[in-house]
Amino acid sequence: MTITVVGSIAFDGLEAPAGVRERIPGGAAFHFAQAASFYSDVRAVGPVGDDYTDEHMALLATRGTNTDDVERVAGGKTFFWKGKYHDDLNSRDTITTELNVFETFDPKLSQASKDADVLFLANIVPGLQRAVRAQSSAKWVALDSMDLWIDIMRDDLVAAIGEVDCLILNDGELQQLTGAPTTYAAAQAIFGWEAHPSAIIAKLGSYGATVFTQDGGGFTVPVFPLDTVVDPTGAGDTFAGGVVGYVAARLEADPDLQVDRDVLAAALIHGTATASHNVEAFGAEKLYELPGSEVQARVDRLVELTRAPDATIALRA
Ligand code: AMP
Repeated sequence: MTITVVGSIAFDGLEAPAGVRERIPGGAAFHFAQAASFYSDVRAVGPVGDDYTDEHMALLATRGTNTDDVERVAGGKTFFWKGKYHDDLNSRDTITTELNVFETFDPKLSQASKDADVLFLANIVPGLQRAVRAQSSAKWVALDSMDLWIDIMRDDLVAAIGEVDCLILNDGELQQLTGAPTTYAAAQAIFGWEAHPSAIIAKLGSYGATVFTQDGGGFTVPVFPLDTVVDPTGAGDTFAGGVVGYVAARLEADPDLQVDRDVLAAALIHGTATASHNVEAFGAEKLYELPGSEVQARVDRLVELTRAPDATIALRA
């Protein structure tokens, strides 16, 4: 099974209570690939500038991620984002977003990337997500986005969401997108759109994640308990990599599988486990050489933490 991912491949500048990094490899597609490559073959699609060296490319290729469709634009500069975290690490301000080579990017997928069974449209301009979706013959597609595109390109984003199976957004972004007062109400509003995904995953920051399915099902996973968080950058994309990677692995084992509430509940546990490793170091540093057994150990712990006992009792009338 192969996953194609399109999204930002970037350099990030980070300011966090634990320290400062001027320029380290990042980007939504980069973080996604670090996690999804534990589960499946990954093909990354996106442009970089000629400041993106072979060493950076080798980091993107961790655990075999294929970089044949990463276009190196001669004379171009790689996407750059800079963020500054508040002391609680739960919120951050974007200081700089330089789209650079993404401004003129016209995605052309190779046949191998078109043929991948699973597609992840990581956070980037919604029009680019749609252009990639149109070229792909994937049978399961997920999409992530952010507040910026809800603010300035909402119509394009709504159209892109209508073309996928699973939407992944922060709880606040779901409410911003729909104007609904709760995350649940936001999910129901999207299920009411003429074209809509059959599953919606709400990322709840340091509180975990919830999946809602169109049939009324749902499941919530807490974050993995950690003593310290160094840098949350890319946690959402790493989470998505674990979720989508797990779904791809299950589809590989059973191509007729329905990606329903139970599959996505287990996928949330994998996404949470991979993201918990990401936040323990700057950028994706911890994931480069992490053995899969360390992800599995956290998956097992999260399964224990989410196993509810029988709560039946005779209540007074
Ligand atoms: P996350 O912490 O999961 O929200 O993802 C952070 C990553 O998203 C960073 O590595 C950034 O390079 C990337 N990013 C930030 N802003 C944008 C944007 N406007 N479009 C695409 N990627 C972005």
